[in-house]
Amino acid sequence: MATVSTEVGPQSSTEWIVTSSPLFSILGTENKSTDAIKSYRSPKTSLRGLVVKTDEPICSLHILLSTESNGGGNGSRWHHPDDGLPHTLEHLVFLGSQTHPHKGILDKLANRCMADGTNAWTATDHTAYTLSTAGSEGAINLMPIFADHVLFPTLTDSGFVTEIHHINGKGENKGVVYCEMQGRENGEGSLVDRAAMDLLYPPASNGETSGYSAETGGKMSNLRTLTVDKVRRYHEEYYTPDNTILILTGNVESADFFKALDEVEALILKRQQPSMKVEDRSGPRVGRPWTNSLVPPMIVENKVGVYPPYKPNEEWKAQPLSISFPSEDESRGTISLAWRGPPYSTRATWNHLTLLWDYLTESAASPLQLAFVENDDPLCADIGPASDVFTEGYHQLWFQEVDVESMEEIVPLFYDEISKQINGDFDLARMSTVIRRYRRRLLEGSERRPTRAIIDGICRNFMYGPRAGEQSTGGSVISPQDEMAALHSDVDVLPLLDEAEGKLEDASYWQGLMKEFILDR
Ligand SMILES: [Zn+2]
Repeated sequence: MATVSTEVGPQSSTEWIVTSSPLFSILGTENKSTDAIKSYRSPKTSLRGLVVKTDEPICSLHILLSTESNGGGNGSRWHHPDDGLPHTLEHLVFLGSQTHPHKGILDKLANRCMADGTNAWTATDHTAYTLSTAGSEGAINLMPIFADHVLFPTLTDSGFVTEIHHINGKGENKGVVYCEMQGRENGEGSLVDRAAMDLLYPPASNGETSGYSAETGGKMSNLRTLTVDKVRRYHEEYYTPDNTILILTGNVESADFFKALDEVEALILKRQQPSMKVEDRSGPRVGRPWTNSLVPPMIVENKVGVYPPYKPNEEWKAQPLSISFPSEDESRGTISLAWRGPPYSTRATWNHLTLLWDYLTESAASPLQLAFVENDDPLCADIGPASDVFTEGYHQLWFQEVDVESMEEIVPLFYDEISKQINGDFDLARMSTVIRRYRRRLLEGSERRPTRAIIDGICRNFMYGPRAGEQSTGGSVISPQDEMAALHSDVDVLPLLDEAEGKLEDASYWQGLMKEFILDR
């Protein structure tokens, strides 16, 4: 369904590879245009662009980079995973670019375009810079300026001192990022989450660390000793054109997007120092972040906090990892259970696990809510699932405001409830309702704010999806059409829901999933 062509950039003279396709199916079938989606790739710099034509009045720009904080690849260990390099860099980008060295220029310009300003976030596996404007003109005009900030920030010594960390006249640790993390680091949820991620993604036996357990926001002790030179090096390694995609969504002409994208390409070509060439980079980043890194297995033997697979009626040698935290109310705490999930490419399994967690925890009538919350003697105030897909992600269950006295009852009761579901209690009618609700929410959301409904899938695809030119696991070379097909699979969840509906006669399918991904892990 996708077609491939080339277009020469008016400013850069790069011969871009352009793949066009119809719109994602979750955004409806009214738009019949065969090039509602256009993906651009520069063979010169490997920069990518994606434009998706939706009928939103708001036009959104996302500049996305895959950011891994693994301590330095190939055993170089030039930084610590908890240095918070992705997050500190995110802050410094807004302080100015080589062309526009003054802070706040972006927001000043954005305000003129009736935009709600610029924003950014740092996740475990990526950093995103965003901007939305009323109509497409503002976003198009601001795109090259924003990209200039991201790719060519000033990263000055003085900016680092004020924005990241310094010691003031009274001997206190200050700095915007430092104070932000100070407010977060010793919070209950964040302490539990850090511990869970350390157990899920331990270092490999050769000492290589996984970026999935990193505190990408930065730990206070690391921020106190971080240097601007490390941030500069991180920028040089990760903020490269081959690790960058510009995504524009809304009511926009692809020709306008292309012109602005090509302007960014021209800027890169003009600025490209010899040292920016891959082979001359000081850093050892080779290939794509994450997909080129090994995800070490969990350490199971004699590890406090790691539970062996559950066997009913057998003595279960499991010891929870407990963490104390400062709190005014010492009678309550949080429990988190987490499991490694399937690989990124098993999209149906991921989607069906999400449905399963909805089945188990959503609404007062769900089995786990009934067992833990909605009864005469509740053990906690709420329960809720969480997950991240990653190359090999995790799924997690949170028990909130657990009575400290009854903490020990939680885990055994949880496994009993899951065992009951597996051994006969599974309610297919309830699952049918869960899928119906999920589908309705999805379709309503994609009608109201199409960008929100598709952006996560687009991000995931950029980080983990197969790319044209790479070798597939089968050994063949991936084509631009394959790449586009994978993008559709990452965004369009409807076929996965159809598949789930096809399993509504078959409780053993759902019970098998629970056994494989919850009980036996
Ligand atoms: Zn921040």
